[in-house]
Amino acid sequence: MARFMIERQEIADTCRTLADNGYLAGTGGNIGVRVDDRLMAVTPSATDYSSMRAEDVVILDIETLVVVEGDKAPTIEKGLHARMLGFHRNRKASVHTHQPIASAVALLHEKLNWQLDPSAGCPSPLPSPRKNGERGTSALSPISLPGDDEHGKAATSMPPSPRARGEGKGEGQSGIAALGSHVARVPYRPSGTGMLVKALANALRPDVFAYLLASHGIICAGTDLKTATGMIREIEASAAAYLRGRILKNINLDSQLQAFIMDALEKA
Ligand SMILES: [Zn+2]
Repeated sequence: MARFMIERQEIADTCRTLADNGYLAGTGGNIGVRVDDRLMAVTPSATDYSSMRAEDVVILDIETLVVVEGDKAPTIEKGLHARMLGFHRNRKASVHTHQPIASAVALLHEKLNWQLDPSAGCPSPLPSPRKNGERGTSALSPISLPGDDEHGKAATSMPPSPRARGEGKGEGQSGIAALGSHVARVPYRPSGTGMLVKALANALRPDVFAYLLASHGIICAGTDLKTATGMIREIEASAAAYLRGRILKNINLDSQLQAFIMDALEKA
């Protein structure tokens, strides 16, 4: 009998949620979840997320990457998830996305600071348009989230961010401690290569749980899959706030275009 079916089903469901919210860009993006001391469950390679079943999720040895259960080929980014979970041993889930706004920031090859509500303990001077996990609607993607009334018929909802859930407070952590100090930058290396795994390994820090993969996408680690998915959402909102700040400083932008872009980012 197949093992870890609850975890595998949760991965399949989460992929659908991320895809429905436009965070995976086709079959891009993937997930790894630690299922015991030695093993992790990962998404299969190049599979349509809308039809993915729990049985399609592959079980691997975190150290050796040898497949121990599952018929499909594992994601080509299995090494990234193994390195992330191997380093952050108190985190269970690693999520990699090609989400549009944060991926745009990843094209700039810069790190990203959290743009949180000042009351949540964030050092950022930029105010967040969101409070307590509320979120606007995006003109860029059909994102439907808790608190969104205008997109009631849209896709599956994303979970709230770790900050909104009070993640880590019982352990004496503030929201920022649960999210990590910032979203760090990993230099560009081609997808699915050992070079990319090595670049991530070099960038990993104990107090940083989210990373922008330059010219590629995002990867983050959460205490569980729901938390990691909430972090993905928080990264997207922080990226939107960051880009708004960058655009406001650019006096050469066409004013109509600037207004259009700012409006779109304001709603992200
Ligand atoms: Zn990718």
